[in-house]
Amino acid sequence: MLFLVPTPIGNLGDMTLRALEVLKSADVIGAEDTRHSGHLLRHFGIEKPLVSYHEHNEARRTQELMERLKRGENVAIISDAGMPGISDPGARLLSACIDAALPYTVLPGPSALITAIIGSGFPADAFYYGGFLPPKSGGRQRELEAAAQRQETSVFYESPHRLLKTLEAAVAALGERPVCVARELTKTFEEYRIGTSTELLAHYTAHPPKGEMAFLVRGLTAREWRNRA
Ligand code: SAM
Repeated sequence: MLFLVPTPIGNLGDMTLRALEVLKSADVIGAEDTRHSGHLLRHFGIEKPLVSYHEHNEARRTQELMERLKRGENVAIISDAGMPGISDPGARLLSACIDAALPYTVLPGPSALITAIIGSGFPADAFYYGGFLPPKSGGRQRELEAAAQRQETSVFYESPHRLLKTLEAAVAALGERPVCVARELTKTFEEYRIGTSTELLAHYTAHPPKGEMAFLVRGLTAREWRNRA
């Protein structure tokens, strides 16, 4: 059976009991980065065969792992952090299982996406997830302009090296709309910084951003939606 197993996004205390049980009973663990995951597994006293499963070998590895699943083995997939399949490998093997009518399950657990939405305080009943914001200015501008027109909260992953450029673009695209930078979630320097893009640009210009982060845009309120141009 295939198991997609989420792992902590910073705080090792967020590893679930069930994730540990599943990893301990797996015949093989497919990991995005076997060195990185080796440290995590050793921390929890888990010694299992590890194979790499990342975007560059996903197609080939899917075939190999499908052979093992067809033989009735237990295959667990983990990524470097968070939920496999969210801006991380995992979806291809799961689709192959669905196509072959093989059993699979997904364990719930840590993901920066869900943690960031809830921590921003923006409405979470409907949201748009755009993955990583495009690195090029044209694509990024289009994403931010689309976010400006949306009623749902928009969530993106962003790199600290690009955040200032994103905030500069957001000033033009989003005006006074509240945005949030959710940074270093579950770690010592966790931060939810909420304000207008202009306020956050001023803050991060004075305090250069570090660490892992998500960028969120509050959607249009019902009144803003009715009054939009
Ligand atoms: N699959 C992961 C998940 O479920 O969150 C996401 C993997 S994606 C390759 C990695 C990106 O997620 C980081 O570059 C960052 O944008 C975001 N991220 C991961 N951990 C984070 C954290 N602790 N705080 C804020 N953002 C985080």
